Amino acid sequence: MKAAEVRQSFLDFFASKQHRIVPSAPMVVKNDPTLMFTNAGMNQFKEIFLGNSPIVDKRVANSQKCLRVSGKHNDLEEVGHDTYHHTMFEMLGNWSFGDYFKQEAIDWAWEYLTEVLKIDKSRLYATVFEGYAGDGLERDNEAYNIWLKHLPADHIIDGNKKDNFWEMGESGPCGPCSEIHIDLRDDDEIALKPGRELVNNDHPQVIEIWNNVFIQYNRKASGELEQLPSKHVDTGMGFERLVRVLQGKKSNYDTDIFTPIIAEQERLTNIKYGSSTQTDVAMRVVSDHIRTIAFAIADGQLPSNNKAGYVIRRILRRAVRYAYTFLGSRESYMYRLIPALVACMGDAYPELKAQQELITKVMKEEEESFLRTLETGISLLNKIITETRANGGSEVSGKVAFELYDTFGFPLDLTELILKENELTLNRGEFETEMEAQKQRARNATAIQTDDWVVLKEDEQVKFIGYDHLQADIIITRYRKI
Ligand code: ATP
Ligand code: MG
Ligand code: MG
Ligand code: MG
Repeated sequence: MKAAEVRQSFLDFFASKQHRIVPSAPMVVKNDPTLMFTNAGMNQFKEIFLGNSPIVDKRVANSQKCLRVSGKHNDLEEVGHDTYHHTMFEMLGNWSFGDYFKQEAIDWAWEYLTEVLKIDKSRLYATVFEGYAGDGLERDNEAYNIWLKHLPADHIIDGNKKDNFWEMGESGPCGPCSEIHIDLRDDDEIALKPGRELVNNDHPQVIEIWNNVFIQYNRKASGELEQLPSKHVDTGMGFERLVRVLQGKKSNYDTDIFTPIIAEQERLTNIKYGSSTQTDVAMRVVSDHIRTIAFAIADGQLPSNNKAGYVIRRILRRAVRYAYTFLGSRESYMYRLIPALVACMGDAYPELKAQQELITKVMKEEEESFLRTLETGISLLNKIITETRANGGSEVSGKVAFELYDTFGFPLDLTELILKENELTLNRGEFETEMEAQKQRARNATAIQTDDWVVLKEDEQVKFIGYDHLQADIIITRYRKI
């Protein structure tokens, strides 16, 4: 099944269950001071869940463009290094607003996965909320008993508050969730260790595919929970992960969502994907990040020095650094991958085709400008190398590496690589001390956004006050209630 067919089959399935199919909301959020990017399918329905907007359709489904690089959901560090977290990804979702609840949600999820898509039942696991005494909540036996109709008891796993209880923020709608995981390991590995021991354990072949959230409570400002008058369902399934399951691959990057982009990179760099860990990671980072950048630009968000634009700029620079360091790319490169990306996704997202020219132009200019910064950093480093040698030294101060990193966005591994080529070493301890001091400064700063939203009381407002760069790749947006 091709990726496009998978997406369509999900929408067709829920349309057959009387859901209205709605378009994806933009990935870049323009009208919410507490959220820069859509990070889940339900974001566009926030006001319905909060009871501020009327319910028009009780059943809705879609495929939503999501981005998880800031706030509570920040997967950036994983991206490229693992094979199933992306910065931008599509979330397939179905919703019930005060209509059906756990029974239908679970039964339909099961029907779709095992009857429509014919996924092997013996590889599937479900998690249910184990309860939490602090909130006076018991285990979600309702969900457990529904799962028991479909799965043997040893494939249903209790999960804690962190994984199995969703909250919008400090207050607001919330409720238990039930995730579906799949064990994609080879049979001989499964025989050695049951999948249930690996669920929610960062195993690259035992992964979460679908989360079903049952919104049945409201958390009051006091922290107390009350039952909501009408209950809702909010589900989200990772499209790239589902396609990987159906195409029988070990990595999301081996599906037709990514292979044309990887193939184009192989052609441009003359490096085979699969030939080394470092070049593989770099190719995955680039393949992932060009999607984010292209979709952001198509949504009207250009890279800039401010807010969402700054986040996009840093993502672009992260990709340039990987390409520069590990793929030997010395010229703008990523913009040349845009035709392959448009070929993959342009039919489902016509905005990509419509904006192709702008995306290409902006990406090329951004790459070129950052490459110039990198080159400046390199000449600085060369000067230091010459000086160190002239003084008969063999080690370069970690402070220098930190300055390069902080001012020029120069990654540590690139500094080390260049020093190694010059038979010099780096004082890593010094670098780490500087880094730790910076982290501490960031920690001492004001409130950090960690929820999906900051749900404001009537008289509260938030002011955007800047970013913390805990590390080059981690972006934390800071807001202060005013
Ligand atoms: P994980 O535990 O794998 O990080 P999650 O619990 O953070 O996933 P949810 O917030 O429950 O994810 O989102 C619903 C679904 O979206 C997940 O079940 C998963 O299939 C998919 N998903 C989540 N994060 C990513 C990501 N960074 N890239 C691709 N798919 C993702
Ligand atoms: Mg996650
Ligand atoms: Mg999870
Ligand atoms: Mg989850």
